[in-house]
Amino acid sequence: MKTYDFDQLNQSFESQTPEDVIRWAVKEFSPNIALATSFGAESAVLLHMVTQIDPNIPVLFTNTGFHFKETLEHRDKLVARLKLNLRELKPEIPTEEFLAKNGKLYETHPDACCAVNKIAPFEKALKDYQAWITGIRRNQADTRKDRPFVTPDRDTMVKVSPLLNWTNKMFWDYAKKHDLPYHPLWEKGYLSIGCSPECCTRPVQLGEDPRAGRWAGKNKIECGIHVPSENNK
Ligand code: SF4
Repeated sequence: MKTYDFDQLNQSFESQTPEDVIRWAVKEFSPNIALATSFGAESAVLLHMVTQIDPNIPVLFTNTGFHFKETLEHRDKLVARLKLNLRELKPEIPTEEFLAKNGKLYETHPDACCAVNKIAPFEKALKDYQAWITGIRRNQADTRKDRPFVTPDRDTMVKVSPLLNWTNKMFWDYAKKHDLPYHPLWEKGYLSIGCSPECCTRPVQLGEDPRAGRWAGKNKIECGIHVPSENNK
């Protein structure tokens, strides 16, 4: 990996737009860069923004087999509207086989369920790239409040998070301006949308942070994909 002065880059990105960050990343890494999405409540904005700059960027989506049907419909709508270069990733074990073997592992051991159905296929696909773009924002959860715009990641990669400083208002203004579709469950209080079992995603109550509905009561906030590694803390 080329050497970067990440401190200086991050300092300079604090006063730049998300599009500036994306342009930098695409210039540095294309065609070895991908965009990761969950087709969740806020995915449309980043997908639109990035594909305006790099229309052919691979879009990685891990289809765990446990998604809401509304998420898959939202995926289809966005793929058609933005002509996404979708690379759908699947767990090695088909969902029915997984359930037959493990039962409701998402209730008893959600970390183990995420490891097999979400993290493993994603990590495998990520090896094909030098950089990846994510839509995380600092105001989504305490675990995200100190994240940098660009950071070394997974030993050989760079992780790029252009929307870090965006507020909810900026986000919805952008979506409105570009007439972007929103996830149908958002209206029902699902501000962060993962897999469909109730123990994995529930609607958020007034005053809770946006990710409070993920694995509620399970002492788990992240699936593992965004947990900082030793070299990017
Ligand atoms: S979010 Fe839930 S169902 Fe989805 S992979 Fe993780 S534990 Fe399993």
